Amino acid sequence: MAGVPQSRRSHREVRTRRAHWAAHMVRAGACPQCHELRLPHRVCPHCGYYNGMPILEIKEKKS
Ligand SMILES: [Zn+2]
Repeated sequence: MAGVPQSRRSHREVRTRRAHWAAHMVRAGACPQCHELRLPHRVCPHCGYYNGMPILEIKEKKS
């Protein structure tokens, strides 16, 4: 059976692991096309571009 810890983690191991949670937070960056905030490795929701190519057709803003 999997998923059962073989021994109890020490307080230091737990605290050391939890001290690094901020390092793997997703950081949004500016789109090189429209300079809006956009998640990395995702098609930009503002201009529909990814890797310099138009991927999505962005319809005009509904007013
Ligand atoms: Zn964009």
